[in-house]
Amino acid sequence: MATITGLQGFFSIPAGTKPSECDRCHQTIYWIEHRCKPKKGETIGKLSRLPISIKDNIHAVAPTDTTWGQGFNHFADCIYAESFRRNT
Ligand SMILES: [Zn+2]
Repeated sequence: MATITGLQGFFSIPAGTKPSECDRCHQTIYWIEHRCKPKKGETIGKLSRLPISIKDNIHAVAPTDTTWGQGFNHFADCIYAESFRRNT
């Protein structure tokens, strides 16, 4: 397991992660499992699934079958982000 750069706001995408598509804006995204920070009373944070976007950023890298990629949270850049948040 390796983080490529640890850049702020970036998430690592495991090797072999298959591309998917945002069902709102149809941008290519990669679903990753992300361990949230533990809340009060929890020893480890919950696992949640995050859509990671790699579009339009020079630091974003698509994963291959053997190498990790990295990108940023698609919730932050999806043009329909407001509709994601409404449910949370
Ligand atoms: Zn989207």
